[in-house]
Parts: sequence; structure tokens; C-alpha cells
Amino acid sequence: MKYKRILLKLSGEALMGNQQYGIDPIRINEYAKQIKEIHESGVEVAIVIGGGNIYRGVQAEASGIDRVQGDYMGMLATVINAMAIQSTLENHGLYTRLMSGIKMEAVCEPFIRRRAVRHLEKGRIVIFGAGIGNPYFTTDSTASLRAIEIEADVVLKGTRVDGVYTADPEKDSTATKIPNLSFEEAIRGGYSVMDTTAFTLCQENNVPIIVFDMNTSGNLLDIVKGKENVGTLIS
Ligand code: UDP
Repeated sequence: MKYKRILLKLSGEALMGNQQYGIDPIRINEYAKQIKEIHESGVEVAIVIGGGNIYRGVQAEASGIDRVQGDYMGMLATVINAMAIQSTLENHGLYTRLMSGIKMEAVCEPFIRRRAVRHLEKGRIVIFGAGIGNPYFTTDSTASLRAIEIEADVVLKGTRVDGVYTADPEKDSTATKIPNLSFEEAIRGGYSVMDTTAFTLCQENNVPIIVFDMNTSGNLLDIVKGKENVGTLIS
């Protein structure tokens, strides 16, 4: 395996599948199967999950809710998704731990870095919920930060498209896929695939990011095995 410890970032929207809102049971089970596959091949897996399928902080301002309040609502939405993915992974026979950036003893452990690493070493899948626990951040930045903290080899950003494109491929038919990008290019190019904070954290700490299509079964395993040109490598 090319990567021994990975941080998988899944957006909340990815969990919607073909629905307009919420969690698609078929999609979440497909993801669990792929995660199980790489875990069985000996890779240590940590997961950061977004909340965009339920709530986003920026929505708050439009609806007259205070931005900070909205961000906390977004963080709580990520915990709902994290609990769903935890339960689904357990149904597939995996051992998991859910750690939260906001204290919530009844449902998850608080995030303690050394404990997270220990869980991974014991073969548990660690899910990080509630982002970093602070407003004005995103779960992409959380993915970069947690990856650095647990010394993951790579951030794997699972999306619905197979990498970074010159334009939005769902809107522009002339858009072409970019196989490799430097962090400078990713930041200067203003690609909306991740925010600048997420890129900068990984750049400064030498953690590569691979943006790939999580909806194509087998991609995740190919990446951890070291197959090239699956998605876009940002390094
Ligand atoms: N959020 C936050 N701090 C964090 C992580 C998330 O305030 O550390 C809030 C923010 O409002 C964000 C929402 O939680 O809009 C949901 O996360 P995100 O939009 O990153 O989810 P995704 O787009 O990956 O589904």
C-alpha cells in the first residue's frame, strides 16, 4: 500500500446521492463498502464528514440567523452525518470511534489527538465530527488540520467529479481535467474544490491532497495502492 494512514474527507452533499436533502441509504452503504475494502487491506482510516446536506453556516445569514449561530448549527449537522456513517460502518462489521470538536459526551468522545492516533493503531476507524469546533471554518480545513495532527500520509477528498477541472464540468463542456497541481497553482487558480485555509495548512505541512470521484467504486482502493492518475494530485 502506498499510504498507511489516510484522512478521507466526504462532503455532506455526497451523502445525499440523488436526493435533494439528507442521507441516501444506498450511497452511504456504498461508501462503507469502499472504506471497508481499504481498511481490510491494512490502511488506517480517519474520516472527516461535512454537513452541507443538512445545513451550512452561510445559509444562516440569508435566513436572518446569526452567522456564528449558523456555523454551530452546521457543525451539529456534521455530527448527524458522522453518526450515520459510524452506524453504517458498524453494520459492515467495522470498529469505529466518533470524536467531536464540540463536547457531546452522550454521543461521541471529545477530540484528543493522542487518543485518536491510538484508535487508529488499534484498527478502529476514527470519524471526526463537529469540524474543528470553531465557527468561520469548514470541514475541508478540518480535514487538513486533523490529517496533520494524526500524521496522515494524504488527504483524500472524495467528490462527485473525478478531479480538479479547468472549469465546472457540470456547467462547461470544454472543461478538462488537471492531473497534477502544485499548492501554489491550486491557491492562485481559485479552484473551488477546497478553501484556501485547507490548501495552505497542507502546503505548509507537506501533506498531499488527492481529489477523486468517490462515486466510482474501486477508486479509493486504487489510490491507496498507489495507482496514478486517479483524480487530481495536489502537492
Ligand atoms: N463549520 C464550522 N466550523 C468547522 C466546520 C464546519 O463552522 O470547523 C460549519 C460551517 O457553517 C459549514 C458547516 O459547518 O458551512 C458544514 O460544513 P461544510 O460546509 O464544510 O460541509 P460540506 O460542504 O463538506 O458538506
